Amino acid sequence: MSNNKNITKYQFLLLSVIGLIILMAVITGLWYFISPRLHEFNETLPFFLLSALRIFFVILIIGTVLVLLTSIFEKNFLIANFAVKLFIKIVYPIVIFLGSILGMSKAELGESFIKVNDSLVRALKPKYKAEDVIILLPHCLQDTDCPIRITVDVKNCKNCGKCTIGKILEIANQYNISVFVATGGTLARRIIAEQKPKLIVAVACYRDLVSGIQDAFPIKTFGIINERPFGPCVNTTVSIKEIKSTLKKVIKH
Ligand code: SF4
Repeated sequence: MSNNKNITKYQFLLLSVIGLIILMAVITGLWYFISPRLHEFNETLPFFLLSALRIFFVILIIGTVLVLLTSIFEKNFLIANFAVKLFIKIVYPIVIFLGSILGMSKAELGESFIKVNDSLVRALKPKYKAEDVIILLPHCLQDTDCPIRITVDVKNCKNCGKCTIGKILEIANQYNISVFVATGGTLARRIIAEQKPKLIVAVACYRDLVSGIQDAFPIKTFGIINERPFGPCVNTTVSIKEIKSTLKKVIKH
């Protein structure tokens, strides 16, 4: 669950479309700038280049419409797999750049990106065996007064009720899914490399989730943003309901 309920996938999608329009306008401007010189060089070259440019624009527009439909309706409009890759690798940095020019918050765009990513992964309707799925949690979910070392083995948790770790373990046990607690990106990457999951259900702040989703790709990741009632990195919490409903959708029964 997001900390900010007003953040939806639509902010990111809207900026992606604006980014695309700006990109096409810049390319068109460049074309009008260089085309007279191309004419001097060769009579037929501008015709071929213009045709190629038009085909590129048509593909870009059709691709963008399909990505938008995939994310909005969460149905696989032919290119959901490609859409996930496109958004993670290319569109995110462009939108962040555009957002910074427009004075938009990186945190809000990051949260919106996570929602777009989740919608695109949901569109694929992934179903996995329990052994192919892991839950990755941040250390800050653990109560700061808890003396138990759960990063070594999360099963050490006594489910005392002071934090959400115990409840998450209960749900994970019902589905027979492994849970790991990472103190940072390096440990998270090591866990993923060792476990080789096909799907990750990750809980973290927007910043760690965005970089985690990008790092883990092509492994699909569902990102669940933690809640921070005491500020960042201390006694954070997460919606158990959201973890439960995510697992229900992705685990093969
Ligand atoms: S639920 Fe587990 S991790 Fe959380 S405070 Fe209790 S024993 Fe510690």
